[in-house]
Amino acid sequence: MLLEVLKFPDPRLREVARPIQESEIDDALRELAQNMAETMYDEPGIGLAAPQVGVSKRLIVMDLDWVEEDQDRKPRILLNPEIVHAEGLEISEDEGCLSVPDFKADVERSARVLVRARTLDWEVVEYTATELEAYCFQHEIDHLDGKLFIDRISRLKRNLYVRQRKKQLRREQEDSGASDVL
Ligand SMILES: [Zn+2]
Repeated sequence: MLLEVLKFPDPRLREVARPIQESEIDDALRELAQNMAETMYDEPGIGLAAPQVGVSKRLIVMDLDWVEEDQDRKPRILLNPEIVHAEGLEISEDEGCLSVPDFKADVERSARVLVRARTLDWEVVEYTATELEAYCFQHEIDHLDGKLFIDRISRLKRNLYVRQRKKQLRREQEDSGASDVL
């Protein structure tokens, strides 16, 4: 089932998500993870965090090299992911986000991260990531802390985006108002 992806400035994107306990892993959580993966492929994106679909839990899905055919897809489904070590600085070019429509920006990110997480089987997994994989981990874990990539760019660029987004929302409102009259 496809889920609705919340868009900036939805306040739910700003909440710090709760860690998941082993006892919370049930069919409903597994289904949520599957639905998040399906939504990520449909959008399409390479990562999605539970707060983006209105669920305040530390759960992310990622797939950096997904394929068109459903049966060959292997999304990473990670619970309570955390960056246990980070080093170096790089610029992640043209970073974007499904929750921040029509905007991309260069973002300063750690160059190399060690990420520790749990799987749905409660196994500990670790990834040493660089480049796009490292940026994606940092981006998704930011979502779990209520942060968006636009928080990591200059105030000037962020204000430009906020103004553009407000205009866009006003237009959408006007459009829907017009259809009510018709
Ligand atoms: Zn995002």
